[in-house]
Amino acid sequence: MSTEYEVVIGLEVHAELKTKTKIFCSCPTEFGGEENTHVCPGCLGFPGTLPIMNKKAVEYAVRAGLALNCEIQEYSKFDRKHYFYPDLPTAYQISQFEFPICKAGYVEIAVNGKKKKIRLNRIHLEEDAGKLLHSGNSITSSQYSLADYNRSGMGLIELVSEPDLSSAEEARTYLEKLRAVLEYTGVSDVKMEQGSLRCDANISLRPVGSSKLGTKTEIKNMNSYRSLQRALEYEIERQREVLEEGGTIIQETRGWDEEKGITSSMRSKEEADDYRYFSDPDLPPIVLEPAWVEEIRASLPELPDAKKDRLVMELGLSEYDADIITGSRALADFFDKTVTLFNEPKTVANWVMGEYLRLLNAEGTEVQESKVSPEKMAALLKSQATGKISGKMAKAVFEEMFMTGKDPEKIIKEKGLVQISDTDALGEIVEKVLAANPQSVADYQAGKEKALGFLVGQVMKETKGQANPGVVNGLLKQKLTD
Ligand SMILES: [Zn+2]
Repeated sequence: MSTEYEVVIGLEVHAELKTKTKIFCSCPTEFGGEENTHVCPGCLGFPGTLPIMNKKAVEYAVRAGLALNCEIQEYSKFDRKHYFYPDLPTAYQISQFEFPICKAGYVEIAVNGKKKKIRLNRIHLEEDAGKLLHSGNSITSSQYSLADYNRSGMGLIELVSEPDLSSAEEARTYLEKLRAVLEYTGVSDVKMEQGSLRCDANISLRPVGSSKLGTKTEIKNMNSYRSLQRALEYEIERQREVLEEGGTIIQETRGWDEEKGITSSMRSKEEADDYRYFSDPDLPPIVLEPAWVEEIRASLPELPDAKKDRLVMELGLSEYDADIITGSRALADFFDKTVTLFNEPKTVANWVMGEYLRLLNAEGTEVQESKVSPEKMAALLKSQATGKISGKMAKAVFEEMFMTGKDPEKIIKEKGLVQISDTDALGEIVEKVLAANPQSVADYQAGKEKALGFLVGQVMKETKGQANPGVVNGLLKQKLTD
């Protein structure tokens, strides 16, 4: 008889803080730049330099903790985590071990329509390491490796979840939720492709009903939501096969290979003891004033869950639409602003979910870079609502507006896209079409409703699509039954 297994996953997420300068020196944090230009003796680990705490980094960690329902710790401190690797010039990373800045939070995710609480064990502050560029595939198979320390000393928060996730899909949903909260609160750029949001996963299987955790592996190198999900799905199957064949899982760190679609062993997993953590003697502990924490709490924006509830309860959007619109703050803000200018939330949602997202995806554009402002969007929707242009025209205008950033009024004028709703002007054309199609008139009068559609089509053709179909319909019916 085969054993049923359940999946246990915990995620460790690193988010780069959006501070202007690094966490312990005043070097800039901009992404990119020529190699080794955003550096100073401090973040290069030269002897005789001392770290100076960036207050904004502390504020951002507290902000993230509050938004994720954590207990903010009045007292926290820094420790040195020792390991030797050329991306780390001091051979230790300044991190928080015993006393992290935030403990015991949670986020809620939707699993099959039900809410599930995913607990966070802790959030701690630490510095980032530099980047290595190998001439070969890895450091061991390379003739040489280049080191770029621009990233060295950037401020990070590490968010460690409890092992509450039960599938690859839940892990992905959880990461998307964290990403949204960190984006809303403005503490991180959360760009996985630029590495400002990174994620490692601990994963194990155990027989259903067992309370003891199985041996876990840690998966690294997952650079997108899709690769997180694929890597976990692969690893679940790998572990299941090993266990079903009576084998044992080795506790180790495994790397995800995007091209091959597999995980493979990188090294045996370190235990905390291996890092020889001890207090950093150069940095004083962080002692937070409760009043300052309350100030930060009061400055939090409306968070994704609250925004979603408002969109559903007050504006009447569907859960599905609200979920997608609130998935990123930029999109949610675009929606909110457009609704303040054109107060028909469902119409705005349809356009955002339809044409707007379609073109953003097709062009690979972010909302922030889009040339369509809420003002232009609202102006376009007003033109449609008043009957000045038809729905079909509105789509054409939107597409041009999206590409060029021109005002909708200007596009409407340039293209001569004015909908004809005037009954006198349309009446003449309707008469002409009726006279030219006696058979269809007879068909309609004999009860063939379909003939009306054909006649409407003929009027649309005559007016090059500019006639208001509603008005044409009314006029035709009126004349045909006269
Ligand atoms: Zn520096």
